Amino acid sequence: MKKGRVFSGARPTGRQHLGNYLGAIKNYVALQDEYECIYCIVDLHALTTLDTTEDLRQNTYEMALDWLAAGIRPEETIVFVQSHVPQVTELHTILSMVTPLGKLTDLPTFKEKVRMQPHNVNYGLVGYPVLMAADITLYKANVVPVGLDQASHLEFTRETVRSFNYRYKTNVLIEPEMKITEVPKVIGTDGQQKMSKSLNNHIELAATPEETLQRVMTMVTDPQRQRRSDPGRPEVCNVFSFHKVFSSTEEVQMVDTECRRAGIGCVDCKKLMARNLNAHLEPFRQRRAEYAANADYVQDVLRDGKQRASVIAEQTMKEVRAAVGLP
Ligand code: SF4
Repeated sequence: MKKGRVFSGARPTGRQHLGNYLGAIKNYVALQDEYECIYCIVDLHALTTLDTTEDLRQNTYEMALDWLAAGIRPEETIVFVQSHVPQVTELHTILSMVTPLGKLTDLPTFKEKVRMQPHNVNYGLVGYPVLMAADITLYKANVVPVGLDQASHLEFTRETVRSFNYRYKTNVLIEPEMKITEVPKVIGTDGQQKMSKSLNNHIELAATPEETLQRVMTMVTDPQRQRRSDPGRPEVCNVFSFHKVFSSTEEVQMVDTECRRAGIGCVDCKKLMARNLNAHLEPFRQRRAEYAANADYVQDVLRDGKQRASVIAEQTMKEVRAAVGLP
């Protein structure tokens, strides 16, 4: 017996990197054991900030491929693309009628977006949280995994559900529970900022072992360790953070001790980490290659996901239209 239905969405950002994996995908895979899961590639959300859409289809494909290779099981989990189920835009419109405009423009996330793209403050940007509320409620999800920094987004969805149900004297929409998830902040190869493709400080899951080694060798380490003979401080070194995830307990202990007394150099330390990282990613890469060799596999999964998601979406919309009094 599963505990409930989880919904989560992510923008189509193409090939996924270690930050995506440790911050979200790993959790997606684990949630499948306890919940009925619906994972959505939110391409409509992506339109609010994209200057060009020429890579949108390829990015959607690559991301779905990475999800599946990482262990998302499409025979039980619904994996689909947001725009393939147009009922979400209908529900978005209906929910926008119970959403005060001031509440949207007051959201810190909206203000941040305005700051980041003052040349493109579009209507979709304002309505973004309403579309997110439509995503979650359309599929009657009762659990949504969020990091602490996203808790306010989900609270907005919960308030929207209450407003809708109160206004139309119904209980059609479900108020989802937050499942606060610890989202590790994965720092990029620059050792300073969150791992991100746009900062080019990322390590792709699908990179070859050689490419991975090259990226690891560029990683910034303890800035105080200028020479091989200088003792290091693992606690401030990003390479050590990765050791803690991908190396054995004995190796982590060894690096911790030897770094402090300059018993190991950064080059050898990085090589060891890269070797362990590559070993960890090997099964993922094999599955990815298998799935990629079958040109139809990902498209078939997304088509099947669309069908299964559409059944739930249309049932919800029938109930919503009846509650609203639409003919
Ligand atoms: Fe970082 Fe390893 Fe160098 Fe120590 S030896 S500073 S943990 S890379």
